[in-house]
Amino acid sequence: MDYKDFNPAAALHSAMKPGELDGVNPPVSDSATFKFSTADIMSETFEGKTEGCFLYSRHWNPTNHRLADAIAAMEGAEAGWVTASGMAAITTTILQLCCSGDHIVSSMTTYGGTFAFFRNFLPKFNIEVTFVDITDPEAVKDAVRDNTRLIYTETVTNPLLQVSDISLLAGLARKYNLKLVVDNTFTPMIVSPLLLGADIVVYSMTKFINGKNDSISGAICGPREFIDSLIDVNNGTAMLLGPVLDPLRASSILKNIYSLHIRMKKHSENALFLAEQLDKHGLKVRHPGLPDHPGHGVMKEMMHTQFGFGGLLTLDAGDTETAGKLMLSLQEKDVGYLAVSLGYFKTLFSNSGTSTSSEVPMDVQKKMGLSPGLIRFSIGLDPDIRDTWQRMKESLQETGMI
Ligand code: PLP
Repeated sequence: MDYKDFNPAAALHSAMKPGELDGVNPPVSDSATFKFSTADIMSETFEGKTEGCFLYSRHWNPTNHRLADAIAAMEGAEAGWVTASGMAAITTTILQLCCSGDHIVSSMTTYGGTFAFFRNFLPKFNIEVTFVDITDPEAVKDAVRDNTRLIYTETVTNPLLQVSDISLLAGLARKYNLKLVVDNTFTPMIVSPLLLGADIVVYSMTKFINGKNDSISGAICGPREFIDSLIDVNNGTAMLLGPVLDPLRASSILKNIYSLHIRMKKHSENALFLAEQLDKHGLKVRHPGLPDHPGHGVMKEMMHTQFGFGGLLTLDAGDTETAGKLMLSLQEKDVGYLAVSLGYFKTLFSNSGTSTSSEVPMDVQKKMGLSPGLIRFSIGLDPDIRDTWQRMKESLQETGMI
């Protein structure tokens, strides 16, 4: 099938299975352990030889399986596994793929927690990371060494909204015999990284996928062999470190993902409208849907058009103080909340350099082009975005930005 013919929403919905006992939703499997009919089946399950048997919920739980299968269908993946956070999905994947002495080439702009894990935590295990401008193929190539194990990026990076060319990076990964791991948190349904050649996709489901800001969760999607290796009882990172999602939460997230396609469209539509207005006023706005965004062309090639360019935009207020004043005024006018995170039905905004990217040292922030006044907006599902814009405009006037 041609990439552009793949519809993640249709794939997700057509893989939906009804519940049991005529319930439209699957039951919650509220069990930590499961009984076996014979001792032989129990030992075979420990050896990974049985299908459809559950041994312990840190390994697999039927409700988590439903959610993992749904996410895998949406990604066009063979399999998935769900985690207690996005960071759990990222750290589990990296620790499964890398051993002491290995090296990673990563986008310099990633979520601050990921950056801190790479820069401060992995050296404890003698794993080194080189940070590059992921939109520069030569920089990626130059960073590859004999001991490089993987390339890591975010489809649309946090917070600078750089667009990674997944097909190009997958080509490089293949050439140098590396794995390409992609965090698709900002662009579920919009981009399908596995179908563009990535090896593994990770998600913070805390964001758009769940969309309710009521819980923390994550997911890992990829080849069945890799997912199975994560839960190998002898050396699987997920099985041994235990970052599993609670099935009660899995059940709640499963109900939310079936409206993701409608939400993504609306987030994208609202974000593009506001980005265009800010742009018309000559402000320093960044959004992949604006024709002058450096990644606009790549985004158009990779996106499933019906879901738009995503719900994130950034605005450079010039300095931290102006950013603070603007955000306060926006909150007072109920444009949104001064809060971290994203993918919520209400607009959320934060000053990236002093919040979700504060783990990134000042000199690196400067190098990557993260200016002190940068505000990251996750645009909500406002039913009348024109009305929101009027209130936003008043805040911009009050702050002297227009
Ligand atoms: N990946 C991205 C792109 C993020 O923005 C975040 C959190 O902000 C994470 C991963 C971490 O996810 P979680 O907070 O669910 O652990």
